[in-house]
Amino acid sequence: MDFALTEEQTAIFDMAYDVGQAEIAPYARTWEADGTIPRELWPKLGALGLAGLYVPEEHGGSGLSRLDATLVFEALSMACPSVAAFLSIHNMCAKMISSFGDDALRDRMLPSALTMESVLSYCLTEPGSGSDAAALKTRAERSNEGYTVTGTKAFISGGGYSDAYIVMSRTGEDGPKGVSALILEDGMEGLTYGGLEDKMGWRSQPTRQVQMDAVAVPATNLLGEEGKGFTYAMMGLDGGRLNIAACSLGAAQAALDATLAYMKERKAFGKSLTEFQALQFRLAELEIELQAARVFLRQAAWKLDTGAPDATKHCAMAKKFVTEAGSRIVDGCLQLHGGYGYLADYGIEKLSRDLRVHQILEGTNEIMRLIVARDMLRA
Ligand SMILES: Cc1cc2nc3c(=O)[nH]c(=O)nc-3n(C[C@H](O)[C@H](O)[C@H](O)COP(=O)(O)OP(=O)(O)OC[C@H]3O[C@@H](n4cnc5c(N)ncnc54)[C@H](O)[C@@H]3O)c2cc1C
Repeated sequence: MDFALTEEQTAIFDMAYDVGQAEIAPYARTWEADGTIPRELWPKLGALGLAGLYVPEEHGGSGLSRLDATLVFEALSMACPSVAAFLSIHNMCAKMISSFGDDALRDRMLPSALTMESVLSYCLTEPGSGSDAAALKTRAERSNEGYTVTGTKAFISGGGYSDAYIVMSRTGEDGPKGVSALILEDGMEGLTYGGLEDKMGWRSQPTRQVQMDAVAVPATNLLGEEGKGFTYAMMGLDGGRLNIAACSLGAAQAALDATLAYMKERKAFGKSLTEFQALQFRLAELEIELQAARVFLRQAAWKLDTGAPDATKHCAMAKKFVTEAGSRIVDGCLQLHGGYGYLADYGIEKLSRDLRVHQILEGTNEIMRLIVARDMLRA
C-alpha cells in the first residue's frame, strides 16, 4: 500500500492550483457579486485538459483516473469551490457523452466540450422529484424525427448559461427503466429558462429552471440507448460525488491555511493567538479531521478507479464524510478568525456558504446514508 502521490499526480495538483490562483482566486468575489462566471475562463481551463479529465485520450480527453481528478478539484477549490464545482458538472457530462454516445454524437459534441467553447449541464432534478429522481415526469414522446420533449428541470447549474443540456426524460414506463438521456441544445424552439435563483452559496454559478415545451429533439441527440438514461445518470454520480467532496476538501484546506496565518498575526491578551493552548488544540482537531477526510476520499477514488465492488458505497461514504467535515472545518476556521471571519474580506464566510450545498446535491447526505445502510444490510 502506497499513500504517496506520484510525481505526475503532484504535477497535476500543482498545475490546477496555479491556474486556480492565477485565473480564478483574484476574481471569485467579483463573479459571486455578478452572479456569473465569465465564459472566457472556460477555454483557458479547456486548453489545460481540465474539461475532459477522465474522457479517454482516444476521444480527445486527458484520460486521467478519478483519483487524479479529485486532485484537480481539490486544488481548484482552494481558489473557489463554486467555480470548481461547476467544472465538475461539465466534466461529468463530457464523460457521459464519451462513454455512452455513438461515434456521430461524440464527433459532433465532444470536441467543443473538451475545449469548453461549449459548456454542458446535467438535468435530472425536477420541481416534484429530487432525491426520488426516478419519479421524474419530463416526457419525451417519439416523433418521426426523434422526440418531442415537455417538462421542467429544477435547480440546474448553468441553466440559461450552458450550450447543451443532458436531460433525463421519460420515454417509457414509470420508474428508472423508462428514462432516456436526451441532449437539448440552447436555441432549440420551446427551450426556455426560469429566473436566476437567489442562493446562499455557489452564487457565481447561474442556477435556473430549464423549461421544455414540446421541444423537437432529433433522434441523433439520444445519448446511448433508450431506457438506459437513468443508469447513465447514476453512473456519472459516483465520480461526481468524489469531485464534490474534493471541492469541500480544497476549500477546507484553504480556510485552514488562512487561519494559521491569521492566528500568527492576531494578538489577544498580549499574546499571539497561536500561544493559547486551547486554540492550538482546536487547530490540531481541524488538521486531524482534514487529513482523515483526504485519506478517506482518496481511498474511495481508488476503489472507483480499480472497479472495486464496494466503490459506490465508498463514494457515498466519502461524499457524506468529507462534505460534512469540510463544512465543520471551515466553520471552525471562521470561529478562530473571531469577528473578522464573518467579514467577506477575509474569505472564510464565502467558503462556509459555498460548502453548505455540498451536503445537499449529487444526492443528499441522507441518501448517502441510505446507500451505505442498504449495502450493509444486503451483505
Ligand atoms: C445550488 C444547487 C445546484 C443544483 N444543481 C443541480 C444540477 O445541475 N442538476 C440537477 O439535476 N440537480 C441539481 N440540484 C438539485 C439537487 O440535486 C437536489 O436539490 C437534491 O437531489 C435534493 O432534492 P430535493 O431538493 O428535491 O430534496 P428532497 O428530495 O425533497 O429532500 C428533502 C429532504 O428529505 C430528505 N429525504 C428525501 N428522501 C429521503 C429518504 N428516502 N430517506 C431519508 N431522507 C430523505 C432529503 O435528504 C432532504 O433532507 C441542485 C441543487 C442546488 C441547491
